[in-house]
Amino acid sequence: MDQIRIEELQVFAHHGVYPEENVKGQNFYVNVDLYTATREAGVMDDLELSTNYGEVCRFIHSFLTENTYKLIETAAERTAEAVLLEFPRIKGLTLEIRKPEAPIPLPFDSVSVKITRGWKRAYLACGSNMGDRESYLNKAVQELAEDNKCRVIKVSDWMDTTPYGGVEQDNFLNGAIAIDTLYTPEELLEFLHEVEKKNDRERIVHWGPRTLDLDILLYEGCVLHTEKLTIPHIDMHNRDFVLKPLRQIAPYEIHPVLGKSVVQLYDEVKRNGEKHTV
Ligand code: ATP
Ligand code: CA
Ligand code: CA
Repeated sequence: MDQIRIEELQVFAHHGVYPEENVKGQNFYVNVDLYTATREAGVMDDLELSTNYGEVCRFIHSFLTENTYKLIETAAERTAEAVLLEFPRIKGLTLEIRKPEAPIPLPFDSVSVKITRGWKRAYLACGSNMGDRESYLNKAVQELAEDNKCRVIKVSDWMDTTPYGGVEQDNFLNGAIAIDTLYTPEELLEFLHEVEKKNDRERIVHWGPRTLDLDILLYEGCVLHTEKLTIPHIDMHNRDFVLKPLRQIAPYEIHPVLGKSVVQLYDEVKRNGEKHTV
């Protein structure tokens, strides 16, 4: 992706572990690569179509002088997030904070922390088969939209489906949601669990009835397997009630392990798999 680069922005600020650093202050230097499409602005010669780097400089300068952190790791993390929340055209950034006057009693040039952060596209499955199913799914979308670290990009239709997994229970309403998020996969799962809990979710029977279930299907091409989290969702390719709504909003998204598009996976499950959708 195109980049706008800011080099060695000088900020006199008070970050540091030692109290005297917080009182006296020192110079920090910030380097930033902003990942953003510059083509349109470049062709049209129009600043409105780009991000004003002067504004970004002023924003970073104010942010780092108005807040004080012990660690430059934290200063970098918070600044990166604030920039991504403030400037909608910036998809990601690499931000480095240098601290050449750090209190180290040895000859050295500089110490620095450099991080890369950005908006990640994720696809979620949502389902409900208790109470007012539609209202639970709508509430989930609303909670995602209201969280500043998530942006709702697309929402599928809600589809009536028959239960999966052998437990006798009412029909489900299922859907899929595309979001852009600043959460890591683990943080996103934690946030989804909070949303479920707020919406009366109780875990009693595995695959049993629930007011709201939110699963991560795909997360920006990521492949991950830990005790708590598997991405892509480990069983998504066997579920027509997941793939049908997902196909509506992301037909050509590729499953990074199986190397097939959502359309292909849906066609396969429709031909050979269990039927839970009409
Ligand atoms: P299934 O995951 O087969 O649809 P479920 O949604 O009914 O089953 P839950 O009881 O909601 O299962 O979740 C059990 C655990 O699955 C969660 O606590 C979570 O740690 C884990 N998990 C692993 N991968 C994922 C994922 N991609 N999305 C959501 N939860 C996941
Ligand atoms: Ca599930
Ligand atoms: Ca779940």
